Amino acid sequence: MIEIRIHGRGGQGGVTLAKLIATSRFLQGLSVQAFGLYAAERSGAPIQAFCRYADEPITNRNLIYEPDHVIVLDPTLVGPVIATGLKTGGWILVNSPEPPGEFANQFARYRLATVDATTIARDNNLGTRSVPIVNTALAGAVGRMLAIPLQEICAALEHLGFKGSNLAAASRAYEEVRLVESPREVGPPEALGAPADERRGPSLLEGAGAALPALKTGQWATEQPRRRQMIPPCNHICPAGNNVQGFLNALARDEPDEALEILLRTTPFPSICGRACPAPCMEACNRIELDGAVNVRQMERYAGDHGVVTPAPLARRDERIAIVGSGPAGLTAAYHLARFGYRAKVFESGAEIGGLLRSGIPEFRLPEDVVAREIDRILGLGIEVETDRRIDRQTLLGLARDHDAVLVATGLQEQRDLQLGMDGTEAVVQGIDFLDHVHRGDVRVDGESVVVIGGGNTAMDAARSALRLGARSVRVVYRRSRQEMPAIREEIHDAAEEGVSIDLLTQPVALHEEPSDGLLRRYRLTCRRMELGEPDESGRRAPMEIPDSDFELTCNRVILALGQSPDVSVFPEGTEVREGTQLLGLLETPLFAIGDLATHDGTIAAAIGSGRRAAVHIHRVLSGAHVRITEHADEYCDVDVWCDEVIRADALKLHLFERQAAAEGESLPIIERRSTFDEVHMGLEDATEAARCLSCGVCNECDLCCTYCPEGVLKRVGHRLEFDYAYCKGCGVCVTECPRSVIFMSHL
Ligand SMILES: Cc1cc2nc3c(=O)[nH]c(=O)nc-3n(C[C@H](O)[C@H](O)[C@H](O)COP(=O)(O)OP(=O)(O)OC[C@H]3O[C@@H](n4cnc5c(N)ncnc54)[C@H](O)[C@@H]3O)c2cc1C
Ligand code: SF4
Ligand code: SF4
Ligand code: SF4
Repeated sequence: MIEIRIHGRGGQGGVTLAKLIATSRFLQGLSVQAFGLYAAERSGAPIQAFCRYADEPITNRNLIYEPDHVIVLDPTLVGPVIATGLKTGGWILVNSPEPPGEFANQFARYRLATVDATTIARDNNLGTRSVPIVNTALAGAVGRMLAIPLQEICAALEHLGFKGSNLAAASRAYEEVRLVESPREVGPPEALGAPADERRGPSLLEGAGAALPALKTGQWATEQPRRRQMIPPCNHICPAGNNVQGFLNALARDEPDEALEILLRTTPFPSICGRACPAPCMEACNRIELDGAVNVRQMERYAGDHGVVTPAPLARRDERIAIVGSGPAGLTAAYHLARFGYRAKVFESGAEIGGLLRSGIPEFRLPEDVVAREIDRILGLGIEVETDRRIDRQTLLGLARDHDAVLVATGLQEQRDLQLGMDGTEAVVQGIDFLDHVHRGDVRVDGESVVVIGGGNTAMDAARSALRLGARSVRVVYRRSRQEMPAIREEIHDAAEEGVSIDLLTQPVALHEEPSDGLLRRYRLTCRRMELGEPDESGRRAPMEIPDSDFELTCNRVILALGQSPDVSVFPEGTEVREGTQLLGLLETPLFAIGDLATHDGTIAAAIGSGRRAAVHIHRVLSGAHVRITEHADEYCDVDVWCDEVIRADALKLHLFERQAAAEGESLPIIERRSTFDEVHMGLEDATEAARCLSCGVCNECDLCCTYCPEGVLKRVGHRLEFDYAYCKGCGVCVTECPRSVIFMSHL
């Protein structure tokens, strides 16, 4: 690629010269660009123009910082700055009556050429006597200098509509330009021009041989650009309150520790959510409109698995907080309270801590070592734990007496039945209990036909576990359609892929034992066909029975996975359990219910969010501190306006981003899955996927706005963009160029 920078003054035709050179190359089949950079738009003001051409398609849109050659249209602009970034051995062509040797001392590293384009232009009546237009003459000189045949220069002139005297001027300059190939191999240090490694090109006003424009053109503006930060939809929707854009930005900079640190501000479970979260952030991702959501879940997993951060308490406080239940809600609350400095103690009725992370979600989706690692990090903050300790109404009162606040995070403990006629017998097992046995390794279903009733995660996990434990066949029976199934989409897909058959719009109504001639007991499950009616109170279309549609399935075991409900017996009679409501009646101690128990959201991320909100709330109550619940996307960014609007895809300049498919990790071959509880989905090997994040509504310092500001009055100082409002005319080019809607115009 050849890149040329042109220094001139307004009215001399510098931009047209760039176009002429580009056109001559374009007509020869090359890929070209030509563009200008203006200061105050007045005759005589310094301008720069640029031209680049190459055999290959040009994708670069930057200014030219390290040109191959420089052309100077006005000798008063000659100074060290014109050689800034110029490659050693490049040409400097000056419009001057002087011979090239006149500039040899000044620019010893470069080849020099001069041509008296001003005289040639005047002789050909181009422009006026005071402002002759020298561009066509210089085009001829450039042709000779760069070995472009004169006829190709003339063809470009004609292509752009020039004829007569312009062609004559070009031809004469082609003959008269004086070239010196090697002025001096090495000159004295002061003659070497600006150092070639200086990355930025000269500013328009720098070395221009003239003072700053006296007129503060910013006075012409009726609007001025300002910088704001909007809310990316992923951040907005994440139930855990994660700063998704922030941690992706850190990963894109190859900073996994920083990414993890950002995540740990909100969630203590990034490796777990990076595997098991239904990822509503991906469903809301603006990149869907371009080429598919950013794989946020996998990136969260990457940060959790590869980042190294040891969180520490931020203070030490004397207040004691009791937390009942050690699922994700209870542990998240304990984690944040411990970070605020409180003495947190967790009471768990089971033998292990972790709630459904341990007893519910099976190993092939959430390996035990991942759960253990994240729980150990939480406990590392000095949290006390008492396992095998069931809290009832009486002991809760005791906790309230001995602590400064109590949080109850006991999840959903009541399991639903279907009244099939054989409930309570060994024919019917609850999904949660089945999965608990799977976790403990004391159940097999070799050769059995298993029917799982339900459409949520418990149903899918039980079905997939049964397959791995030797079941001959597994069918899931669900009374609505696939669209209404509450299980995570990917899990339904994986279950089907592994061989679980799914009977939709099917309602089991009765179960009977059948005579069996083998070792296994045989059951007959009567089912009824259903159709969907109007939406019910859950918002989903209600299943309606189709008369006379009964049919029968035979099986050796039925697993019920119909969902759970809260056990509120721990609370005083009549307590209404809702998140955010302080439950009264237990001395003066603040008492809150959190997690599934209070929200019924049924996801780990929602339990995390609930636990964190409660911890922040208690900290506010006990300390009077003002702690924010929401994290700003990137806190270090300095902006004029924090905007609480969620940015949608139509506010982004999607056409400025290159399309690139999302990275997906490898998965265990299906054939292997049926014989192992090994994790099915592998993580990504690197974090390059994070670079697909568009950074919606949040400045990621791409600097396009600075590059394209035609006045050169917008620059970055550290993390801050500085607009020189004295000279900003409010043209709005920075607004047009910002791909992520960070800059907006505001009326004066
Ligand atoms: C099989 C299954 C698969 C799931 N898969 C996913 C998934 O892939 N992704 C997802 O986001 N969500 C999933 N979920 C939902 C998710 O696990 C829950 O939403 C989440 O665990 C709720 O957290 P929690 O802390 O409120 O309650 P839990 O995790 O239920 O924890 C409650 C804890 O309290 C303890 N406890 C109860 N009563 C008492 C008492 N009286 N005294 C002391 N301790 C007590 C319990 O032993 C338990 O340890 C799944 C749920 C199930 C059942
Ligand atoms: S917790 Fe879930 S919703 Fe939140 S960022 Fe992680 S994957 Fe997305
Ligand atoms: S592109 Fe990035 S910032 Fe925008 S919604 Fe998707 S993940 Fe969030
Ligand atoms: S163009 Fe880039 S640097 Fe400028 S405001 Fe927009 S995101 Fe920030």
